[in-house]
Amino acid sequence: DMRSNYIARRITPVENFPKPGIRFRDITPALQDPRALRNSIDLFAERYDNMGLTQVVAVEARGFIFSAALADRLGIGLTLIRKAGKLPRDVFSASYMLEYGDDVLELHKDALKPRDKVIIMDDMLATGGTISAAVDLVRKTPATIMETAFVCELLYLGGRKKLDQMGINSYAICA
Ligand code: IMP
Repeated sequence: DMRSNYIARRITPVENFPKPGIRFRDITPALQDPRALRNSIDLFAERYDNMGLTQVVAVEARGFIFSAALADRLGIGLTLIRKAGKLPRDVFSASYMLEYGDDVLELHKDALKPRDKVIIMDDMLATGGTISAAVDLVRKTPATIMETAFVCELLYLGGRKKLDQMGINSYAICA
């Protein structure tokens, strides 16, 4: 698709960030380019228009950007998964491994109901550690997860395989 190519060309590799040997994909140029931003929301909206979704579940922080625009476009709500200590009411928590130590994601316990059909969105799928924790959280609620969605995936890091093993489909605009 020409639109996904357009977005992919604006995701900029940065060598040795945040540490030596790591090749970081910087999405900020794709956000700044109006056509890339519009294309990304158009592609998501075309895929999810007829899926009967009730909420877009968004992973902090860059997942929020695309999720908010998509939820508005689809006319549905936005559910936030946040880093530990940010949500004010009772939460479910799930920890996930980082390269050094671990981190915790949280979701309000009452955020999702039995009739909810959701996707879970983040900007990037790498090892899949972050999104797996997000899936674990949503699985503590009675909602149905239709799939996970990303602007970009890094295929060689195995995130898609990890999600497959959890029985979760994944969609990425570009690889
Ligand atoms: P994972 O948990 O290894 O799949 O990494 C995905 C998470 O880390 C997402 O929340 C991304 O925002 C972030 N991330 C990992 N690698 C990159 C990258 O190269 N560019 C931008 N974000 C990244």
